[in-house]
Amino acid sequence: MTTLILLALGVLIVYVAACAWWPYAACRRCSGSGKRRSPTGKAWRPCWRCEGTGRRVRFGRRIYELFADRR
Ligand SMILES: [Zn+2]
Repeated sequence: MTTLILLALGVLIVYVAACAWWPYAACRRCSGSGKRRSPTGKAWRPCWRCEGTGRRVRFGRRIYELFADRR
């Protein structure tokens, strides 16, 4: 059981470190383009979810910032 907890902790540390290094992932709504296309495909507007940036802060990055702020 202890091995399992240590393994999970190790995976979490690696994940948080990866999120510190690569903080953003592609927005789920627009898949990173920052645009929402109209059904015709010609017109578009900025994605409301990411405000047109096309990026989404990863969950692990928030954990990292939680600890980084305490310095
Ligand atoms: Zn978006």
